[in-house]
Amino acid sequence: MVGYLIFIRAVDLPTAAPVSPFRHLDERKAAIYEGLRDLQFEYRLDKLSDEDYNSTKIELQKELAKVRAEEDRLKAELGQPVAKTVAAKPAPPAPAPVAQKHTCPTCGAQFEKALKFCGECGKPMSETETA
Ligand SMILES: [Zn+2]
Repeated sequence: MVGYLIFIRAVDLPTAAPVSPFRHLDERKAAIYEGLRDLQFEYRLDKLSDEDYNSTKIELQKELAKVRAEEDRLKAELGQPVAKTVAAKPAPPAPAPVAQKHTCPTCGAQFEKALKFCGECGKPMSETETA
């Protein structure tokens, strides 16, 4: 069973600067799937021993795993969202959440929440907001 080993080497042939790296990988995957199909076909025809069948199948599956890993790597490189371990950036210091108080322009009373009208004197709290 030498034929399939030659086939696998052919799949390994480097391709110079493919237009789309994914297309190149798709072609490699297609070739591997085809190899698996042929392998099963010949196995069913009793052309292959169990040993040859299994070892060749494992080789092809390994090749397929490599292509898939390469695909993931490319996706990561192209910035596509993949499960990638990014060093967690330290969160920027949170802006002081409650420090700002709302002061009544009329009487100077301070409130935690923005109010339309002052709770003390009842006058509009902000002239700009009432516009
Ligand atoms: Zn007031």
